[in-house]
Amino acid sequence: MATILSYEKPARTVNLPELSRDEVERYSRHLLLPEVGLEGQQKLKAARVLLIGAGGLGSPAALYLAAAGVGTLGLVDFDVVDVTNLQRQIIHGTSDVGRSKLASAIDRLREVNPHVAVEPHETRLTSENALQLFAQYDVIVDGTDNFQTRYLVNDACVLTGKPNVYGSIFRFDGQASVFCTADGPCYRCLYPEPPPPGMVPSCAEGGVLGVLPGLVGTLQATEALKLILGVGEPLIGRLLLVNALGAQWRTVKVRKNPLCPACGTHEINALIDYDEFCGITPALSGAMARVPEITPGEVAAKLARGDDFDLIDVREPHEEKIARIEGARLVPLGSFEAEIPALDPNREIVISCRSGSRSAKAVQRLQAAGFTRVWNLAGGILRWSDEVDPTIVKY
Ligand SMILES: [Zn+2]
Repeated sequence: MATILSYEKPARTVNLPELSRDEVERYSRHLLLPEVGLEGQQKLKAARVLLIGAGGLGSPAALYLAAAGVGTLGLVDFDVVDVTNLQRQIIHGTSDVGRSKLASAIDRLREVNPHVAVEPHETRLTSENALQLFAQYDVIVDGTDNFQTRYLVNDACVLTGKPNVYGSIFRFDGQASVFCTADGPCYRCLYPEPPPPGMVPSCAEGGVLGVLPGLVGTLQATEALKLILGVGEPLIGRLLLVNALGAQWRTVKVRKNPLCPACGTHEINALIDYDEFCGITPALSGAMARVPEITPGEVAAKLARGDDFDLIDVREPHEEKIARIEGARLVPLGSFEAEIPALDPNREIVISCRSGSRSAKAVQRLQAAGFTRVWNLAGGILRWSDEVDPTIVKY
């Protein structure tokens, strides 16, 4: 009998499973390490790890955890492989584009290690299903890309008493930590409040260096293995910060906050509405839709007729080099404010960007400045490519 996880209060006591002859050979380099050894490898085989997301962070984490011989991997995802995923989501291949991420990941993991059982959960993680799901696993690996799910994962980990192996990435920067252990801090101790909605751009808006989720996801896999094996010093009470451009790694202390409503006072005794908590109310997400919109077809018709109007592109210069709409004038969102006095409030103005969200902000800004004849190009240059000019490359 052994406990999983062995470093803290036993979450689950199991009879350690025997290793087959094949497995002994496969895990030879682990068995040579006294810190792993036969018993450690058996603990890995007995362990159940749940990965939230089979994307940038989940890809390397799942691949390494499977290769290492973690007996059961649960995967939560509901997305489909898109060609823009392949730059970093290395569990998926070119021929998987259009397939479900779970189906694609399962095929790849089976090839990496047929001894691992993969449990697919093709669903969005919600306040309704998280507790019941987490209860079935020993360690949770958070590979989500948004604040709502991150707080949900954290609170569900606190409530179920499961360690939360956290990672996040943006552009060239990454973070990792281990939250929600018996005595350690949780994500809310570090970040009590989510940022205002729209303040922190997503990777889909701001970009991310493809290898960065490799660095952070591999760290998460390392921490999960350490927790199961009960070796080393897990990143409990420490936040690891990695900057790829500077090749800098540093850790900062994270203290448990005795007043934390999740892990301190336990005021949060059930899962809440995380969209609301993060300020993503239906009214707010509808704000984008509430700005006046114009379709790509309508703008193309205006251009073809020679209508007198301004078409302003608020993307960045390096994006304009990839693709542009003929006739659009570039005013990056960062310098848009300074441009407003030069604009004629009596002229028609159409604002465009990549997908329509930055341009909606510019439209709102102009409305606030008293402009009334201003429209957002719905769906941005991506939809323009779909509906007007397919020669325009999508990125
Ligand atoms: Zn806390």
